Amino acid sequence: MNFLINKSFKNKSVLIRVDFNVPLNNELQITDDSRIVAALPTIKHVLDSGAKIVLISHLGRPKGVDKTLSLLPVSKKLSKLLDKPVIFLNDCIGENIENCIKSGEAGDIFLLENLRFYKEETKGDYAFSKKLSNLADVYINDAFGTSHRAHASTHGVVEHFQDEKYCGLLLEKEIINLNKVFNQNNSPSIAIIGGAKISSKIDVLFSLMNCVDKIIIGGGMAYTFIRALGGSVGASLFEKDKINAAKEILSFSKEKGVSVLLPVDSINSNSFSNEISSSTNIFNIPDKEMGLDIGPKSIALFEKEILLAKNIIWNGPMGVFEFSNFSSGTKLVGEAVANSTKKGSYSLVGGGDSVAAIKKYNLENQVSYISTGGGAMLEFLEGKELPALKALL
Ligand code: AMP
Repeated sequence: MNFLINKSFKNKSVLIRVDFNVPLNNELQITDDSRIVAALPTIKHVLDSGAKIVLISHLGRPKGVDKTLSLLPVSKKLSKLLDKPVIFLNDCIGENIENCIKSGEAGDIFLLENLRFYKEETKGDYAFSKKLSNLADVYINDAFGTSHRAHASTHGVVEHFQDEKYCGLLLEKEIINLNKVFNQNNSPSIAIIGGAKISSKIDVLFSLMNCVDKIIIGGGMAYTFIRALGGSVGASLFEKDKINAAKEILSFSKEKGVSVLLPVDSINSNSFSNEISSSTNIFNIPDKEMGLDIGPKSIALFEKEILLAKNIIWNGPMGVFEFSNFSSGTKLVGEAVANSTKKGSYSLVGGGDSVAAIKKYNLENQVSYISTGGGAMLEFLEGKELPALKALL
């Protein structure tokens, strides 16, 4: 793979696939600019080397042209962050766009309109990829968050650049940090996996068992495991059709000698709301109640393990942390990860909701690395080949 270090692109036109898929509020204001900030090192590096930059990204999941998902607000934000004008073009392919870019000079930064206004982008359409490649001499991928997708801008376009294809600085940092999870010398290593459903985490649970010593399971997905072990989970979220998968995960963990730590108690509610109805043993949740957070005994158990760990990966909240009465599990587990990091452990946090939780509790500077990928991070950890990374080889 080609990296950017010591690479100069003087007078070249450089197409950079970034991940500017930022959250917007109803007034179309950006509520979190982390993804734009994360792309700055690559943009600055290329700019400083004397190139003209063409930025491409998707935003949301538009079905055709949708002005509420325009990248225009991003261009304004980026311009502020760089303290430099950013030229926004209201399309991403075609003769007009090519001519505008051609008439630009070294040092100019263009941001093109949302790639997903064309359905050809997610289809990985050949003709669309070719049109994107007409925009520049060099291609850089810095969009880790979409690297698990074989889309036109992440995969199809790459073949048109032959040797002029590079891994951006953010992408490089993601690969280096995610590989640290597989560092067997940093033991004990622990994975903390939570979130709503076990169905989206089955593969990663199996693959993590090849590289960690312990797995903590929390969040809604824990209740499927408790059912698989014969517990009564009341009206808690659980996936009946995944009980066998939960049993297989537990028996594979025994084969591998990996301890799976499940919650022992649960904070419950009569409805999906902020009202606590009871706090019980997790195996005995009353019929009409649902567990929305792990209880104090589970938190104490998990904290102890997290503080002993040398290598930590965290994906998924421990409960419905969006409700204040059910946020303790996620908050205290986050604080334990921060404390363990302070003591010298390596901690990696990824996935939209765990990152949101880390930020909510002001812990973002107290963990070793926050991944910008959710699905991409999980697929990387599952050992799957990510199409966008493969294309850069
Ligand atoms: P995921 O995208 O799979 O990581 O799931 C994140 C979501 O899981 C968050 O919005 C949480 O509110 C939700 N969640 C966590 N614990 C529970 C639970 N016990 N019951 C229902 N939803 C939960």
